[in-house]
Amino acid sequence: MSELQDLYQEVILDHNRTPRNFGSLEGPHREADGHNPLCGDRLRVFLRVTGDQIEALRFVGSGCAISKASASLMTDALTGRSTADAMRLVETFTAMITSAPDTPVPDGIGKLAALAGVREFPVRVKCATLAWHTFKAALDASSEAAGEVTTE
Ligand code: ZN
Repeated sequence: MSELQDLYQEVILDHNRTPRNFGSLEGPHREADGHNPLCGDRLRVFLRVTGDQIEALRFVGSGCAISKASASLMTDALTGRSTADAMRLVETFTAMITSAPDTPVPDGIGKLAALAGVREFPVRVKCATLAWHTFKAALDASSEAAGEVTTE
């Protein structure tokens, strides 16, 4: 295993062990549930948008290390962004994670690059994208009705 892969492994293990922004969100918010039946990952994403900005993004749930690390990294990466900017990053991340393993990792995605190794294991791609699909569902949800997404 290369040093770079070791480093990536370390980021994933760290975010699995100590997930960032883990827990529910008080006050007005939108939320959505995500389920990946292939692996059994279940996440709930909580989102507060003020004006056009993602003020808070948190999650709860249980699942494999990849799904949890991806959710943790996502909350770090998207908090504070405008919704348009966040959606661009969702597209960039989704394109990266579903690309061929030898495709160069896009610039400017920071620690999210740690998840690029998942491309070698197609069955785990849905674990990595679950939080991101669930974020989109939360963004689309109203404050009265929760969104829901199941990966197929
Ligand atoms: Zn999983």
